[in-house]
Amino acid sequence: MFRKILIANRGEIACRIIRTARRMGVATVAVYSDADRAALHVGMADEAIRIGPAEAAKSYLNGPAIIEAAKASGAEAVHPGYGFLSENPDFVEAVETARLVFIGPSANAIRAMGLKDAAKALMEKAGVPVVPGYHGHRQEAAFLAGEAVAIGYPVLIKARAGGGGKGMRRVDDPTDFSAALDSARREAESAFGDGRVLVEKYMAKPRHIEVQVFGDGHGDVVHLFERDCSLQRRHQKVIEEAPAPGMTAEMRAAMGAAAVRAAAAIGYSGAGTVEFIADVSEGLRQDRFYFMEMNTRLQVEHPVTEAITGLDLVEWQLRVAAGEPLPKRQEELAIDGWAFEARLYAENPARDFLPATGRLSVFDVPEGVRVDSGVQAGDVITPYYDPMIAKVIAHGRDRAEALARLEGALRQCRVGGLVTNAGFLARLCRLPAFAAGDVDTGLIGRAGESLLAEPDASEEAFALAALSALGFLEAATEPDPWGRLRGFRLWGEAARTAFLDHGGVEHALRVTIRGKENFRVEHNGLATDLRLHSIDGSSLQVDVDGHILPATVHRDRSAIAVFFGGHGHAFATAEEAGHHGEAAAGGDRLSAPMPGLVRIVAAEQGARVARGEPLVTMEAMKMELVLAAPRDGVVAAVPVAVGDQVAEGALLLALEPEEAT
Ligand code: ADP
Repeated sequence: MFRKILIANRGEIACRIIRTARRMGVATVAVYSDADRAALHVGMADEAIRIGPAEAAKSYLNGPAIIEAAKASGAEAVHPGYGFLSENPDFVEAVETARLVFIGPSANAIRAMGLKDAAKALMEKAGVPVVPGYHGHRQEAAFLAGEAVAIGYPVLIKARAGGGGKGMRRVDDPTDFSAALDSARREAESAFGDGRVLVEKYMAKPRHIEVQVFGDGHGDVVHLFERDCSLQRRHQKVIEEAPAPGMTAEMRAAMGAAAVRAAAAIGYSGAGTVEFIADVSEGLRQDRFYFMEMNTRLQVEHPVTEAITGLDLVEWQLRVAAGEPLPKRQEELAIDGWAFEARLYAENPARDFLPATGRLSVFDVPEGVRVDSGVQAGDVITPYYDPMIAKVIAHGRDRAEALARLEGALRQCRVGGLVTNAGFLARLCRLPAFAAGDVDTGLIGRAGESLLAEPDASEEAFALAALSALGFLEAATEPDPWGRLRGFRLWGEAARTAFLDHGGVEHALRVTIRGKENFRVEHNGLATDLRLHSIDGSSLQVDVDGHILPATVHRDRSAIAVFFGGHGHAFATAEEAGHHGEAAAGGDRLSAPMPGLVRIVAAEQGARVARGEPLVTMEAMKMELVLAAPRDGVVAAVPVAVGDQVAEGALLLALEPEEAT
C-alpha cells in the first residue's frame, strides 16, 4: 500500500478521500488554490501545498503544478477525485511520466470512453446495446438534420465530448433543429473545445440506470450493482438511489453483465460507471436498455453503492492502484437495504436554480444520515467552483425507510446565510410518484411550479426574525437573561418596531413585550403571541398557544436565518436591506447577475433594440445566461467584449436615457 498520496481535488471529495486514506494509515497531501487557503480539505490533510490562484484553470486544472506538488511532498500516487483532471488522459500520462501512480484507469481506457461517438462504436462491437442514432464523423448541419429525420423526432443532440449535460439539446420539431445544433455546438465548443455532436433517439420515458464496475487491470472485472439516477433536472442528477426501483434479478444480471463486458473490452482498472438509459414506456424491460457512456472515475453518487454494499470504494481504488487484486469476487457481493443521496446546493430553485454565493452562516444536518461535505459553518461558497454544499446519504432496510430518513434529514437541516435547494429536495422526496418508485427523467419537469417555490414565511417565522432583529433573543442568553428586557419595561419602552427585508420587500413589525419571555408581534394586521420556552444559543423552543415547537434563529451581522416548521427563511435587518436587492435593476442597464464569462454580445453602440431582445449571453456556473433588453431603446455603451471575465454586478451594456430615444 502507498505511504503517501496526493489528492488533486478540493471540497467534499477531497475530504472523503482523506478520511479513507487516514483509516488505512496512508498519509495525505492536499492541494489548494488561493480561494481555498482556509478550506476544510486543507485543514484535514496531513500537509497541503498551494498550486495557484483561485481560477480552476490556473490551480485545480494545472497539471504541472499538481505533479510538482506531488514530487515535492514525496507522494507516491495521485488521486484525482471527480471532475477537474480525473478524466484527462494527458494528465494520467504526465503523472506516470513523473513516476507516480495515477489512482484510476489507464490513459488509453479514458481515451476509449472519452468521446461519446467512439465509445458507442466500440461498445457496439463488444455486444453492448447502444441508443439508436447517428454517432459517425459527418458534421454538416444538413446531413445531421437528415439523420434526425431518419432517427425520428424527438431527437437529442449531444456533444461527443460532453459531460454534465452540457452541449445537449432535445429537439421536438425539425424546424428547431438548426438553432438547437448551433447552440449545442457553441456550448460544447466553449466547455470542451470540441463542437462535434452526435444525434440520437430521444426516449419518451427514459430512466437513467448506471452500473458501478471495478476492474483490476488484469482482466478481472466485477459490478457492484446499479444506481438509479432518473430524478434529474435538465439532464442533471438531483437525487440518486440504489438499487433501482422495480429492478428484477434477471434484468440486474443482464445489465451487470453488459457493464462488465463494456469494462473488460477496454481492460479497465479501478472504479468506473457504465451509464445506461432504459426506455420504460412499457416498464423496465431487459431488451430496452442502452449504453450511453462510461465514466472512467469515481462518481459523485458512489456513496449510495457504498451504503448498500457496505464497502468503501475509495479503499478499493487505493488497493487496485497499489497492485492488489479486487477485494471481493462477484459472488461475494450482495445488496443490503436501500440508499438515497441528495445533492445539497447553494442555488435558488425559485430563480431557475441560479447558483448562490456567500457565507454559510449555519450548516447543521441532523444525525442518522451520512453527510459528505467540504465546507463548514463560516465558510464562503465562492463563484470559482461548483456550489455543492454537501451530499446527504440515507440508508434504510427498505426504500420507504431510506426515503423517510432522507426526507427527515432534508426537512430538518439548517443551512443559513445563503439560499439553498434544501426545501426543494425535501419536497421532491414527498412527491407521490417518487415515493412510489415510479421515476423517469421527466418527473421533476412535470411536477411543476409548486416544487420550486418556497412556501411563504409563517407569521411565527416573521415574529422570531423580529425578536432577533431587536436583539431580544441575544438578550435572552445573557447571564441575567431577562435583565435587558426588564429594562425596556422600566424605561417605559414596552413596544418597539423592527424593520425587516424579506425577499426584497420591507416589513415593519411591532413587538410588544407583554411579560417575561412573552411577546406579541404585529405584522400586516395580524398579531402573533409567542413565549420563549427555552433558548440555547441559536436553538430555541417557542410556545405558540401552548404548542411548544423547535426553532433555530441565526444572526450573522445583518442576515437573519429562521428555521421553523420545517422551512428555512432568510431575512435582513432593514438598515442593510436594499444591498440585497437586484443588482441588475434599473431600466437603462444590463449588469452581470453573477460572475462569469461574456460569450456573445449581440448589439453594438448605437444599435436600436427592442424590449426582450437577447443582447448579452454570459456563461456562468455551468449555464448559459441570456440577458435581454429591459426596454426598447438605443445602445449607449457596451463596456465588455466577448471573452471578458466579469464580476457580479459589472455593467455589461447601457441604453441611452429614455428621453433621448
Ligand atoms: P452527460 O455526459 O452530459 O451527463 P449523458 O449522455 O450522460 O450526458 O446523458 C445525461 C442525461 O440525459 C441522462 O441521464 C438522461 O436523463 C438524458 N438522456 C441522455 N440520452 C438520452 C436519450 N437518448 N433520450 C432521452 N434522454 C436522454
